[in-house]
Amino acid sequence: MKKTINEIAAWLGIAQTFEEAVVTGVSINTRTLEPGDLFIPFRGENVNGHKYVAQAFEQGAAAAFWQKDEPNPPQDVPLFFVEDSEEALQQMARAYRSEHNATFIAVTGSNGKTSTKDLIAGTLAPYYKVQKTEGNYNNQLGLPLTLLGLDEDTQFAVLEMGMDGFHQIELLTKLAEPHYAVITNIGEAHMEALGSREGIAKAKFEIVQGLQADGKFFYDGDEPLLRPLVAAENIHAISFGLADTDDLYAANITEDEKGSHFDVHGLLEDNFFISVLGRHQVKNTLIAILIAQDIGLTNDQIREALKGVELTNMRMQLVEGKKDILFINDAYNAAPTSVRAALNFVEHATMRSDKWVVLGDMLELGTLEREYHENIADDLNLDAIQHVCLYGPRMEALYSKIKDQADVLWSAEDYAPIIEHIAQHASADSLVLLKGSRGMALENILQAFVK
Ligand code: ATP
Ligand code: MG
Repeated sequence: MKKTINEIAAWLGIAQTFEEAVVTGVSINTRTLEPGDLFIPFRGENVNGHKYVAQAFEQGAAAAFWQKDEPNPPQDVPLFFVEDSEEALQQMARAYRSEHNATFIAVTGSNGKTSTKDLIAGTLAPYYKVQKTEGNYNNQLGLPLTLLGLDEDTQFAVLEMGMDGFHQIELLTKLAEPHYAVITNIGEAHMEALGSREGIAKAKFEIVQGLQADGKFFYDGDEPLLRPLVAAENIHAISFGLADTDDLYAANITEDEKGSHFDVHGLLEDNFFISVLGRHQVKNTLIAILIAQDIGLTNDQIREALKGVELTNMRMQLVEGKKDILFINDAYNAAPTSVRAALNFVEHATMRSDKWVVLGDMLELGTLEREYHENIADDLNLDAIQHVCLYGPRMEALYSKIKDQADVLWSAEDYAPIIEHIAQHASADSLVLLKGSRGMALENILQAFVK
């Protein structure tokens, strides 16, 4: 960005006039602050960012926020006195957004936000200047920072929106005022805060509240909870999925060691390939195809771009390890829906015959935690998957259900026995899925097999 201090003061409704200077970025951390940045201090539980304001100026900050109730502001530096840093940041982002001419695309859902964001951005990137949310900057701080980080000549902004309660997506979508809004799917994460899957669907559906009047909404047509919400609203809604009742659906999906081939029907008839595994990623790709088609890319352009798309690490990533064991690293995170999707992939995979799944605890599931872990048994086809390794205390629930039915190993505290078991019994015929919540860090198991 490139704004003067006085332009920003006007955005914030601050009447004071400052000595003119240019602000070229926003920083919330002096460790990464660059000269010309506006520094924003937050008051957290442990740290009070106001302590670092003087240092920010020493490092070349152009200006800083200062919460009005904070004592002893530094003198003779350009400070914006604000009621609340977070709200002021959002106000700034809203103002910057409303002056920006890009097309805004907002993505939410229980699983697949980052993947879908990468797929959309990757499809458009060969043809337009595209920016997207970095990593997981998808909340009430990350989203405004992402907006303020957009270059002025960016044509498409692909934004990930996350939440763990009601009214959060509402806030984010009203900041972004998207031209396209997406719900990838409804899962079970954050059940505790939202009460039920219905609650989760409602909270995600808040994304339409910021949608432009002529904007379009794309949603998972295979999720029954979304249809009634869509029907009750006067919006241009388009469904995607794997059922022939969806407006755009994928069929004839075949997967090999390179990725997935699939046909699409409905709003568009053609076939595509992505170098990503899993039927759920095919669904995410349908969203990218729908958006690309809507902005006028030809099928050939879309097909060409999709070939080059790569996803952020640890999402259904194929890695060949020691002894030529083929690993699927999906260790970025896990919740019941994404575990189901990954198990489904392994069950049907044809690339190797000896199939292993290493499952780590699913965290943040609330009071139904035990049931969710047990229920994985229903999606675990032990005729197709011969070896199961379970890691973490919560996996005891699943272990006790399946321990007599197959080669099952459970280790509550330590993954060394799992590494040893794989090292002894897996071979060049083996496919090993690694899937668990972020806190379980299952990629450490893979580390032991890196060639
Ligand atoms: P987070 O909430 O952690 O930011 P996210 O919504 O950004 O997650 P991704 O990081 O894209 O989601 O993927 C998380 C996990 O969910 C991965 O294991 C991925 O393979 C799986 N996944 C991706 N898309 C879907 C989908 N549509 N349905 C079910 N699982 C999915
Ligand atoms: Mg994400």
